[in-house]
Amino acid sequence: MPYQFTFDLSKVPRFFFTEVARVSYQKGMHKALLNTMQEIIKNCRIQEATGLNLSDAVVLLQDFIDLQAVNLMERKKFLKAKKRVLLLPHCSRKYMDNRCQASFDASLPSYTCAHCSKDCLVNKADRLAKKKGYDVYVVPGGSCILKILKENPYEGVIGVACGEEVKMGVAALDSMNVAVQVIPLIKNGCANTAFNMETLVKTL
Ligand code: SF4
Ligand code: SF4
Repeated sequence: MPYQFTFDLSKVPRFFFTEVARVSYQKGMHKALLNTMQEIIKNCRIQEATGLNLSDAVVLLQDFIDLQAVNLMERKKFLKAKKRVLLLPHCSRKYMDNRCQASFDASLPSYTCAHCSKDCLVNKADRLAKKKGYDVYVVPGGSCILKILKENPYEGVIGVACGEEVKMGVAALDSMNVAVQVIPLIKNGCANTAFNMETLVKTL
C-alpha cells in the first residue's frame, strides 16, 4: 500500500541519511525520539526540500529509522547468507508501459529486466546484483514475495520499495528463516520512483 502522500528525497543532503543511521543505532535508548526527529527534519530542511507537512515528514522519518534499525539487527545474519535475492519494485523501471522490454512471468508474478535502457535504475541494479551472484526479481507488489521465497530457498533478501510496502514485507517474512535488508525508496509515487544506488551497492 502506498503512502497517502508523495515525497522526493533525491535532493536532500546526505547528512539526512547519516542522521537516520545515527538515530536508528540509538533507537530504544532514546527517550525523546519525536523531538530528535523534528530536529532532523528542521536541520536537513526536509519540509523545504520536499513540500511535506511536519506530520507526514515525521511518519516518513520514523519509517526510515525503523527500517534502518531492522538493517542493523539483521546485518550479521545477512552477511552469512549464501543464497541471496534482490527484489526490486516495478515502479522504479524507466517505463511503466510497453516501452519496458522486461519479460513478465504471471505465475509469480514478476518481471525480468531485458536491459533495454541504459539509464533505467532497475537495469543498473539488476546488472550489479547479478554480477555479485544474486537472483533478481522486479515485483509488482509485496504479495509476490512469499511466493518467490516459498519456491526458492533464499537465505538472504534485499527488498527495495517504499517504506510502507517494505514494512509489510518485513512483517510477512517474520516467520521465515531469512535475513532481511531493506532499502526504502527516496522518491515514491508508484511511477518513476527512485532508490539510492550508493545504498544498494553498500547493501549488496
Ligand atoms: S531496462 Fe529493464 S526494467 Fe528498465 S525499462 Fe528496460 S526492460 Fe524495463
Ligand atoms: S511506490 Fe512503488 S513500492 Fe510503493 S506502493 Fe507504489 S508501486 Fe509499490
